[in-house]
Amino acid sequence: MTATHAFWLAGRQVSGEDSFDVTSPWDGRVVGTVSVPSDAQIEEAVATAYAVRDEFAATPSHVRAAALDHVSRRLVERTEEIARLISAENGKPMKWARGEVGRAVSVFRFAAEEARRFNGGEAQRLDTDLGGQGRLALTRRFPKGVVLGIAPFNFPLNLCAHKIAPAIAAGVPIVLKPAPATPLSGLLIGELLAESELPAGSWSILPVPNDRMPALVQDPRLPVISFTGSEKVGYAIMDSVPRKHCTLELGGNGAAVVLADFASDEDLDRAAGRIAAFSNYQGGQSCISVQRVIADASVYDRLLPRIVAAVEAQVTGDPSDDATDVGPLVSEDAAKRVETWVDEAVAAGATLLAGGKRDGASYAPTVLTDVPADVTLACEEVFGPVLTVQKADGEAAAFAAVNDSKYGLQAGVFTHDLQAAFRAHRALEVGGVVIGDVPSYRADQMPYGGAKQSGVGREGVKFAMDDYTYERVMVLTGL
Ligand code: NAD
Repeated sequence: MTATHAFWLAGRQVSGEDSFDVTSPWDGRVVGTVSVPSDAQIEEAVATAYAVRDEFAATPSHVRAAALDHVSRRLVERTEEIARLISAENGKPMKWARGEVGRAVSVFRFAAEEARRFNGGEAQRLDTDLGGQGRLALTRRFPKGVVLGIAPFNFPLNLCAHKIAPAIAAGVPIVLKPAPATPLSGLLIGELLAESELPAGSWSILPVPNDRMPALVQDPRLPVISFTGSEKVGYAIMDSVPRKHCTLELGGNGAAVVLADFASDEDLDRAAGRIAAFSNYQGGQSCISVQRVIADASVYDRLLPRIVAAVEAQVTGDPSDDATDVGPLVSEDAAKRVETWVDEAVAAGATLLAGGKRDGASYAPTVLTDVPADVTLACEEVFGPVLTVQKADGEAAAFAAVNDSKYGLQAGVFTHDLQAAFRAHRALEVGGVVIGDVPSYRADQMPYGGAKQSGVGREGVKFAMDDYTYERVMVLTGL
């Protein structure tokens, strides 16, 4: 018997009538049972958040900052236990789960810092024009309204943190919905927030089933939707509410480019090691994991065997084991989908150099070359431990290959050449270019988001706060 986890309704722990089990993708055991809110309870959460929006906006920033600092500290204290929870419900190896807790610690700390300095304030003299003589404009930021935050399964703690921490920092009430496969880590944030002094009603964390989400999405009291998840669901939400403010953090098929100057043995060992680690971290289930390697023709033959060796050296297995690099995918269905895409690519002429095998929800770290451009694996986000390697004749061809995708989240460019770095920054149609490393680097305070079909808008604590609020000008006359 596992305990039933209540949800958080207006800052209080409450149970509903229905519940569902959360199971480990590694061994199928029930990790927890989660209580589901009724329609009346969802309505209460939204109505309360809406009712307290002015009170919350007026809460002193030191109170909001203290709550955020408190959560950050408690996450540090409970790191090991929370990492075990993430690993159990998501299948993420412990080494990556601990890293995720560490990132959430930073998100709450950054949010506390931003809460202390946030108001968007600016004084602008208007007398630069005749009509503005004697006038001064003061700008401050105010909440757009209650935020609806929707989070995916792959960073079940940190991506919930990225929704809720900026909302608290900006004084904007939020209703947060974690992913159905991994709701426990998001609900745990409620435990830590409930220990703080925030106004009741300013936050709720509700594991609402997907089929009941459209009513929430449509609710006019929730004018801002901050969504992280798949392209399909994200765009369907945005299309259903064209007049709402939607931030969409969607998928990608991250490319790592290795340019001709990154050619010493040491360089290639480093590139191969980073590529192998970050095509497989979390079973490749990261929106910025390395899916494509685009190597200059002059380094390709020396790089490829290094990548294959580094991928084969990844330790697969039980995610609760500290030695494990690659655990299972989130479900057996997810692993079967990856298997289908790889098999399709091989049948169409791709060469399999490593992996290509499935065992239940686990898929072996896989490397392919000669992948035809029109197969699913080449066009879509694989979201699994699968890497394709291709050759490019020179920098321009490599950059064109990166851009030959509907996605544009992040790209990595291995080079020592500063000029090439600036050319990459200009040429690559992505939200972030990482020089000297894989595309998988994200610092939680930097602007993060996609170009093309990888999304709309930017996250990163300060940027999310801007997103949840708008500038309101006050013009003073007679000065
Ligand atoms: P998903 O789209 O299946 O689900 C995301 C969230 O949307 C979940 O909470 C889900 O319950 C909810 N949802 C599903 N149907 C809904 C509906 N009709 N209305 C409202 N909400 C609904 O995505 P996932 O499988 O959980 O996550 C994987 C995807 O997330 C990948 O595509 C990945 O690239 C993307 N992702 C993007 C980023 C980023 O910052 N760009 C970060 C992490 C993950």
